[in-house]
Amino acid sequence: MIHITLPDGSVKNFEAGVTPMDVAKDISEGFARNVISAKFNDTVVETVTPLMEDGSLILFTWNNEEGKKAFWHSSAHILAQALEELYPGIKLTIGPAIENGFYYDVDTGDHTISENDFKKIEDKMLEIARGKHDFKMHPVTKSNALALYKEQGNEYKVELIENLEDGTITFCDHSNFTDLCRGGHIPNTSIVKAVKIMSVAGAYWRGDENKPQLTRVYGISFPKQKELTEYLNLLEEAKKRDHRKLGKELELFTFSQKVGQGLPLWLPKGAALRERLENFLKQAQKKAGYEMVVTPHIAQKELYVTSGHFAKYGEDSFKPIKTPAEGEEFMLKPMNCPHHCEIYKNRPFSYRELPKRYAEFGTVYRYEQSGELHGLTRVRGFTQDDAHIFCTPEQLDEEFKNVIDLVLYVFGSLGFDNFTTQVSLRDPENPEKYIGKDEVWEKAESAIISAVEDKGLNYVIETGEAAFYGPKLDFMVKDALGRKWQLGTIQVDYNLPERFELTYKGNDNELHRPVMIHRAPFGSMERFVAILLEHTAGNFPLWLMPDQAIILSLSEKYENYAKNVLNLLENHEIRALVDNRNETIGKKIREAEMNKIPFMIIVGENEEKSGMISVRKHGGEDLGSISVADFAHLIKSEINKTLKPFNPIK
Ligand SMILES: [Zn+2]
Ligand SMILES: [Zn+2]
Repeated sequence: MIHITLPDGSVKNFEAGVTPMDVAKDISEGFARNVISAKFNDTVVETVTPLMEDGSLILFTWNNEEGKKAFWHSSAHILAQALEELYPGIKLTIGPAIENGFYYDVDTGDHTISENDFKKIEDKMLEIARGKHDFKMHPVTKSNALALYKEQGNEYKVELIENLEDGTITFCDHSNFTDLCRGGHIPNTSIVKAVKIMSVAGAYWRGDENKPQLTRVYGISFPKQKELTEYLNLLEEAKKRDHRKLGKELELFTFSQKVGQGLPLWLPKGAALRERLENFLKQAQKKAGYEMVVTPHIAQKELYVTSGHFAKYGEDSFKPIKTPAEGEEFMLKPMNCPHHCEIYKNRPFSYRELPKRYAEFGTVYRYEQSGELHGLTRVRGFTQDDAHIFCTPEQLDEEFKNVIDLVLYVFGSLGFDNFTTQVSLRDPENPEKYIGKDEVWEKAESAIISAVEDKGLNYVIETGEAAFYGPKLDFMVKDALGRKWQLGTIQVDYNLPERFELTYKGNDNELHRPVMIHRAPFGSMERFVAILLEHTAGNFPLWLMPDQAIILSLSEKYENYAKNVLNLLENHEIRALVDNRNETIGKKIREAEMNKIPFMIIVGENEEKSGMISVRKHGGEDLGSISVADFAHLIKSEINKTLKPFNPIK
């Protein structure tokens, strides 16, 4: 008998040789029908692998990441078989599961695969899937594996196998198809009910541009047709929400080839929006005891040699700028931290004066290859909502909680309600990889964990993911389409205080090293606005909207009344504009809808006579005829729903 431990902690006894699927059936037949893959003692196994020893077993369904991975990995096998049948003589290379679906890289030889072939490939895959072929793993000796692929003339698989150790090589068979594979499959092909070939692209063998170019076929598959349809709708919606498209339509930002790639230009509406975001954070930071500082965009190369950033960004980034006469070398600022360390060094501090919290909307520059640039999310110059906190090790716990409060306030005010956090700790097996004393690390790590516990955050711990200079907490938000984005980071740092020899005088009158916290709730203004655009589809929270209302006159006759209304709204600090063009009201409404303006105020004869306004909400809801004062009140109360006052505990 062997003991199998299940994730809920329960232990069941089985005869040795029991399979994960047997265990699933023992739990319940209904559950077993949904089980598609398994892990035994942290190793991926097949659902038919005989279990021969005690251990813990996790059974996965489509609803688990691991289940999806097995599903898509198995689908890649089906894709490979379909391609081989449709294009005889092609050479298979590798085909992994990816975040959304899978791909297979093939050397197509004389064939070309284009969009016109997608339907044919999908049909072939579904035909294979319907055959209900079991995935069967079996070991192969290195010499047999090599012989098989040499006979096929597939130099790619030969190269892969040559790098494997004899005795570790396995193949996976289904139907009359076989492929080199480490395992992790769904029970049989028929679970795959819907497939879509998404795209083809060129890809170099092993990602090396000196090696042959292959064709990468991307696909995705689902256990139900309905799920594929939903996924495709989501992609459509994501396209509509692409921040590059919306940024252009809403006139927020642009790029100019003359100015340079990856260097965003903020248009008036975008600049105003960005300023509102900055003021919002500045206000909250002021309440939380931050002080604003300003530092230049360049600094002597030496500064970054001291900080270690030259080693990190120097070689692969913008080159130093040399002065014409003195032979000095300056660099574009890749990080604000070194500057803030020098600000801290301006004068000595006693422990009673700490923490010092220096904040700056600091613009930094990092070289990115032109192919890597993407809208506002990958740029060469961006502004961080940066701050550095210098505190004593004893204060770290409380400071960390304060920073979390600020981050949560920012997310709440901007409608990011769905987020998770990741605590990155050091790898205790390799203490030599990290700087700083053990006890200091232990303190900081337990400070972070107690802070996230205390704040009731949903978190995962990643051991070994800490930077060499300190542990950190990352916030990952889920947007309206369920996509995950990494936003704010809070990072503890023992390294820079060491490198810059920062000190404070303790109550023992001795000099000690402060701890530094880096934090940026938005991350960068550019990336944040991009994510906010995709999350809200341009329907920003009302307090942030470029234009909160537009006054549409029914005809030119009511121009003066429209202007009066505008003045009244401006007195109430409502951002509004007037559309007095000689256009039909229908056209004016349509354009205001396109521009996502939250409220449309329609003025004509009735309104002028009664001194009222007719209000229509973005999306069509009619609020009828109301007074300007009531409208102002309505806007204020809508704003107060998302934008609450920030009251940090002092
Ligand atoms: Zn496989
Ligand atoms: Zn920093």
